[in-house]
Amino acid sequence: MKKTIALIAHDGKKPEMVAFVKDHIEFLKKAHLVATGTTGSYVKQTGLEVELKLSGPMGGDAQIAALAAEGKVDGIIFFRDALGKHAHEPDIQMLMRVCDLYNVPLATNPATGSLIIEGLLEDEL
Ligand code: PGA
Repeated sequence: MKKTIALIAHDGKKPEMVAFVKDHIEFLKKAHLVATGTTGSYVKQTGLEVELKLSGPMGGDAQIAALAAEGKVDGIIFFRDALGKHAHEPDIQMLMRVCDLYNVPLATNPATGSLIIEGLLEDEL
């Protein structure tokens, strides 16, 4: 069965997410991708199909947390803007807590993101 990977990037990190996706496109082509709304529309510009959730501040992070709690996501790549403040900080914390609770791989930077993607998808190539 296809692995499901969730992608989220705060505004300051969206270019980094697009670059990351391009770097791993051969792996990511094999996955089912889900993303928060704005991140997903950026990622779609690479040509990949992405299931779009709500925008993060409007509940998208919470939707991805729900997928994690239900065992419906295999890994989450979440590039946070470590310098910014976010109105949806409680949702961000909740997403990270749910990943720990359910042992869902969560990467918050490209180095760990690469390890997750390669680990989850190397058998698919
Ligand atoms: P966005 O949400 O992809 O809709 O911008 C990301 C976030 O801020 O959590």
